[in-house]
Amino acid sequence: MRILNVEGRLSIESGDGVVDVNAASGGKFSAAPQEIYERWDEFLEWAAHADLADHSPLGDRAIGSPVPQPRQIFAIGLNYRAHADESGFARPSAHPPIFTKFVSSITGPNETVAIPAGANVDWEVELVAVIGRQAKNVVAADAWSHIAGLTIGQDISDRVLQMASPAPQFSLGKSLPGFTPIGPRLVTVDEFADPDDLGLGCAINGDQMQEGRTSQLIFSVPQLVEYISARLILYPGDVIFTGTPSGVGLGQTPPRYLRDGDELVSWIDGIGSMTQAFQTQSETALIA
Ligand code: ZN
Repeated sequence: MRILNVEGRLSIESGDGVVDVNAASGGKFSAAPQEIYERWDEFLEWAAHADLADHSPLGDRAIGSPVPQPRQIFAIGLNYRAHADESGFARPSAHPPIFTKFVSSITGPNETVAIPAGANVDWEVELVAVIGRQAKNVVAADAWSHIAGLTIGQDISDRVLQMASPAPQFSLGKSLPGFTPIGPRLVTVDEFADPDDLGLGCAINGDQMQEGRTSQLIFSVPQLVEYISARLILYPGDVIFTGTPSGVGLGQTPPRYLRDGDELVSWIDGIGSMTQAFQTQSETALIA
């Protein structure tokens, strides 16, 4: 199943269109996309038997994040060897570096991102796993059954702010407005032949910058669920940004950062693609 947030309403892709879940279920399920993860098993059961033939064209309706308001966002650093190397950090072995991206930075998959004055804005395409069942002390072998589905994320970063304090705290510099686009759709795990081996990448103005496979993750999705859920509760609708392959801007010689007018396209096999436009933040926006 492929789930979309269509103008703030939970929808299922069907045929060449979309079905509004609230309407098709006769009000059984809320239109709010975030709420479905609380009732994920019930939703899967309903969807398996629902008549989804009565779909409407998506048209030019705006697509939002399929997980607009998670309680917790986990983001994993240095989870591909070549990216750890280009970042100048040691490769993690027993403990993945974990930070958060604050929820206010989430947007849909196709928004314009403002570049603040003095920022070095960088890109990181990432597989994003969304929790579908509460997880505490879940071992890796059972982890996929706790995942609702997979989507695409960009872990956009201001490298200046990310590294500004004496003990670098990544979260603020990765949480400016629009720095956490997610989408375009959530694809349930059963749709993938091998959810542990998906190609992903991104391009700027048509130049490919990153390319990798999720089979290259140092800590796989199941291992991340095991590691995190051994320490705290993963709630339905929480998201895990699983880390980025090599090819980010700070790893280029010389470093390259996003500029006014750039277009960033990110893709993952079996999920699709999303596009961000970048624009220098205007003086008026700064005052507002
Ligand atoms: Zn990242």
